[in-house]
Amino acid sequence: MQSITLLGATGSIGVSTLDVISRHPDKYTVYALSGHRQIPKLASQCKQHRPKYAVVNDAVSATELQALLAEAGSETQVIWGLEALCEVAGAAGVDTVMAAIVGAAGLLPTLAAVKAGKKILLANKEALVMAGGLFMQAVAESGSVLLPIDSEHNAIFQCLPPNYQQASSSGIKKLLLSASGGPFRGWSADQMVAVTPDQACAHPKWKMGRKISVDSASLMNKGLEVIEACWLFSVGPEQIEVVVHPQSIIHSLVQYVDGSVLAQLGNPDMRTPIAHALAWPNRIDSGVADLNLFDVARLDFEQADLQSFPCLQLAFDAARTAGDAPTILNAANEVAVEAFLEQRIGFTQIADVVKETLSSLVFTEPESLDAVQDSDARARVFSRAYITGVGQ
Ligand code: NAD
Ligand code: MG
Repeated sequence: MQSITLLGATGSIGVSTLDVISRHPDKYTVYALSGHRQIPKLASQCKQHRPKYAVVNDAVSATELQALLAEAGSETQVIWGLEALCEVAGAAGVDTVMAAIVGAAGLLPTLAAVKAGKKILLANKEALVMAGGLFMQAVAESGSVLLPIDSEHNAIFQCLPPNYQQASSSGIKKLLLSASGGPFRGWSADQMVAVTPDQACAHPKWKMGRKISVDSASLMNKGLEVIEACWLFSVGPEQIEVVVHPQSIIHSLVQYVDGSVLAQLGNPDMRTPIAHALAWPNRIDSGVADLNLFDVARLDFEQADLQSFPCLQLAFDAARTAGDAPTILNAANEVAVEAFLEQRIGFTQIADVVKETLSSLVFTEPESLDAVQDSDARARVFSRAYITGVGQ
């Protein structure tokens, strides 16, 4: 029996994870669930999955959740705050942690799980983008098993040989990272100036949280994934090529020196990578429908349009610069996406905010978590001030 802490249970990945878990009550039990704003949803998840703990961010949410759970006669204990989140991530009774909090808020609890040597199912790509060096060092030191949930990285992981860390013998030439192209594929920058948050969040293939949906529309998501892949698979950005594939059936590919290209295919449903990582190295049913190639009929591929989608270029540049450039890119993007979702800036201004922040701050080589958090904070202060200035 695997005991699981699910960070970000109320989100899109959280819900898909609980769906897979509930198909295998003989294999998985839930130790803790966390949620931030959707307290009634968290309460009903607790009633169904009966975790030992439910974690929320503040005392007010804790009181609300407690009342809902008491009404239902639930035995789940409600705790709150960052420390509580880190505790349930690293607790002795936990085998596996699904890191599915969105954004930089997921870094510390995910790191707590890494340091405690848990098996980590990593959806929270921002944690790796923000603090990749320290994160991977902590993984190496604790012996934690790190499995990618992001569909592209999970696909690459499935296509890699066991010796993929040994660059000289593994024969890997390139990682080909799939991108759906998002809702604005084929659009010019001018056409995207006036798009609304709802248009940006209407992804043609994947149903996801609003932040990652906006990132997918701007291709920043692909940029973050380039950086994520560099850390996960020990490759440089020059070894990664983005392939726009609108059907979202091939989730990514690995090209080898002998001419072989291996791909992982499947219907676009996050329960496949979640089930893969949960059961790895075994396989379990995920509830995803069988892929019918005759229904798919054709697979198309295009190059990414870096002119219309400058966020992807900014991310490649930050990956090449290294140091805290990815930390700054990620923080500025989080601030800009929030401002776009609140309609304080336009869609195409997301890239302006990130570019301006990257070109105005001095890069450093952060050697501690405090230094990473300092870079993150500097970028947030700068980008918020820039947005305020633009709005005046
Ligand atoms: P979501 O917005 O649907 O859910 C986010 C979860 O994080 C919620 O449970 C929310 O309560 C929690 N949360 C948000 N802010 C928090 C805070 N400050 N403190 C504590 N908890 C907080 O997002 P999602 O689509 O499920 O994505 C989660 C992560 O997985 C993201 O990093 C995203 O990039 C990654 N991811 C998602 C998908 C997908 O298909 N949804 C695919 C690949 C990767
Ligand atoms: Mg992805």
